[in-house]
Parts: sequence; structure tokens; C-alpha cells
Amino acid sequence: MIRKTAKKIIKKAIKNRDVGLLRDKQYIRAQLGFDWLGNLSIQMGPNCNKACRHCYGDYGPHRYGLPDPDLVEKAVRESRKAGITTFTLTDGEPLRSRNKEVLEKILGNRNPEVPIAILTNGSFANTDPNTIKWMRFLGDNGINFVDENGDIMCVSFGPVYDVHWHNYCRINFGLKEFFPDADFGNVLTYRLMRSGHKDERRSLNQVFTAIASAFCGRDVKLEFGEGRENSRGNNSYFLPVKNGTSMEIVLDRCDPMGRARNIKVVREGYPEKKYTLNNLNFRPETIGSIWLKSNGDVSWGYSESCIKKGKIYGNIREASLSDLKERILDDSVYQGFRLGGVRFLYHMARQVGEFKGRGRIKCDVCHDIFGDPELIQGIRERLGPGGHEGLLHLVDVYREYLDETGKSLKIR
Ligand code: SF4
Repeated sequence: MIRKTAKKIIKKAIKNRDVGLLRDKQYIRAQLGFDWLGNLSIQMGPNCNKACRHCYGDYGPHRYGLPDPDLVEKAVRESRKAGITTFTLTDGEPLRSRNKEVLEKILGNRNPEVPIAILTNGSFANTDPNTIKWMRFLGDNGINFVDENGDIMCVSFGPVYDVHWHNYCRINFGLKEFFPDADFGNVLTYRLMRSGHKDERRSLNQVFTAIASAFCGRDVKLEFGEGRENSRGNNSYFLPVKNGTSMEIVLDRCDPMGRARNIKVVREGYPEKKYTLNNLNFRPETIGSIWLKSNGDVSWGYSESCIKKGKIYGNIREASLSDLKERILDDSVYQGFRLGGVRFLYHMARQVGEFKGRGRIKCDVCHDIFGDPELIQGIRERLGPGGHEGLLHLVDVYREYLDETGKSLKIR
């Protein structure tokens, strides 16, 4: 089976919630026979130059800690052997002077064919000289915004970021000046974080104007549609770029995590409820990410908000990235999560302990499970030793779960 086929099998089984497909060996092979942990997410905080009121990780100037350049360098050097095919810089602001050294280490030590996604709040472009300085820095350090599968930048915006919209104009014109051959619709994405703030529409219009004036002709119109990477079910606006790919403005939403819990509209939009097998969404992973914390701890997941105590697999200081990744891939809890998502782990948690499963979103259930190392250990024991040897036992437990609970899979 090739990866493309495996992806198709996984997507089809998940979309249809078809018990027959989900218990079939094709699906099990597609989920566990491939290394889906191809992305390395590098934490750029928790110290951050902004203190956004919706921050999912409660990051900001009040937090202590930035990535250690030596540890990041080690991870990046080892990334080729560990099969890393993309990097994501997130969980804090990458483009700030205090992270310059770490950026140099990342850009200088990566395999240039492995693209980087820079997630920024856009604050770096607060003046013309600063914008030029950062564009030059990126260019001098080998950022590749020109090739089709090269590096990308995603600018998060909205009233919650408190960044002046002129920054977005400077980013657009800076990119045009320093990377004139780029297909900007492929390189740059804007992401509106919606929190119910009254000025959201105004922010969107400002970004629209900033994009239109830099990349589009006159009389340009926003087109509404499904986002390109629509894993969260987000919608997007698209702006046709002259002689290039349309530029996307993703309409994202704040989850009630971190400081976003303090926003009334967000909190009210997600009332706390009791989760059961009937209302717990079934969504196992299709792809995945390894996460490197600023102190060198390694886990799986996209950002710190998904990482709890029971999910740390060691520190990059003491083990190679490949070894740490092997530990994750061989862990029966990770394998179980791939097969059956949080719903399967919830079922296991209820079998091994007094697990309640209350929260505002599905992630809360996951966080509660992984936040309790004893519970995770219990689930691990129940799922067996993991790795290749443990596979038969794991699959038996998983199929038993499907047989017992398959009927409620279709219920949302
Ligand atoms: S949302 Fe992003 S920019 Fe804002 S405080 Fe959190 S990490 Fe920093």
C-alpha cells in the first residue's frame, strides 16, 4: 500500500464512520503501518511579545521561557533521520529579536528541501525599517518563498491581536519587494481569529484592503469558499491575485482554551457539558505532528494546548529525535489514539478508572485523560505493550470497542 492510498482509506473510513471499514485490516494498516508524524512543531514561547486576550496557551510577556537555540539546533539536525518533512514555528512569536538566534539555527541547519511554516502575529512589521530588516533576515538565511512547495507564512489577525493594520500592508509590500518571484497566494495566508468582537468585520476589511492593494488589481472581490487545509471545518475568503494563486483569508474561531475561556462570547458559545460515547465526535488523526517544547521535552500534537503531563516522551537533551519519535510510534496509547481518536481513549478511560468526561469541547476530554498520568498508565496497560509485538492485542481491544459501541458512532 502506498501513502496516498493509505490516506484515502483513512479519510473514507472516518468520513463515513463505517464500523466495517474501521475494523478492517486495511484501515488498521493505513493508520499504523505508516509514519504520519512528519511535521515538527517548534515552540517559540511561552514568552511572547503579545498578550492576546484569546491566547489558547496563556502565553505572553508574563511567561518565562523561549526555545533553547542549542536544543532546537540538535532537533533540527536530527530531523532528517527522524523523517521530518515539514516544520512549524508556533506557540509564541517567531519573528522577534529574542528569537533571532534560534531562527538562524533552524534555517541554517534544516534540509533546505524541508519547508517551514512561520505562524506570526505580524507585530514584526510595526515600522518600515523593521519590516525591511526582517525580510532581509529571512532572505539572507535562505527562506524559500519562491518554489512551489517552499516555505510559507501565516499571519493571524483580528481585534484580539491588537496589531495595527498597517503592519499587514508592510508585510505584503515587503514580501513583494524582497521575494518578487514568489507566487504569493501559495506563500502567504491570513487567518482571522473570531471571538465575537464587534470590530472583526472592520479587521477583515482592513486586511482585504491591505492584500488587494499589494497583490490584486482594481475591482477585486472577496470570494467565499472552503479553506484549502480545512481540517477544522473553517471557511475562507479568497482574493484573486494577479497572475497567481488566490490568497486565502481563513475564518478561524477561538476555542475555549487558555485565556479565551475568559471571553464571555466564547465561553457562552461552548457551554460545559457531559461527554458520552454518543456526543463525543469521532475523529482519529489523519496526519500528525511531533512537538518540541522550549525546554526540549518532546510530545505529539500541534501546540502546547494539546500537551499534558501524560504525553511527554523524553527530552531532546537526552535522546535523539528519532529515538523519541520511536517511543511515540511504539506507544500503545498513541497507536490507540490513531485508530479510534479520543472517543476510543474515553471508552478505555471509563473502563480503567472513574473518568467523568466533562468539558466545553472534545479537546477537554483528551486533556483530562492525558493530564492524569495514572489514568494514562492504566489505559496503556489495558492496551498492551505497543510496538509491533503488541499490535495483535491492541487491535483486539480496539475491535472489541467497535463491536460494543459501533452503533453510537453515527450519532453526533
Ligand atoms: S495568541 Fe499568539 S501572539 Fe497572541 S499571546 Fe498567544 S502566542 Fe502570542
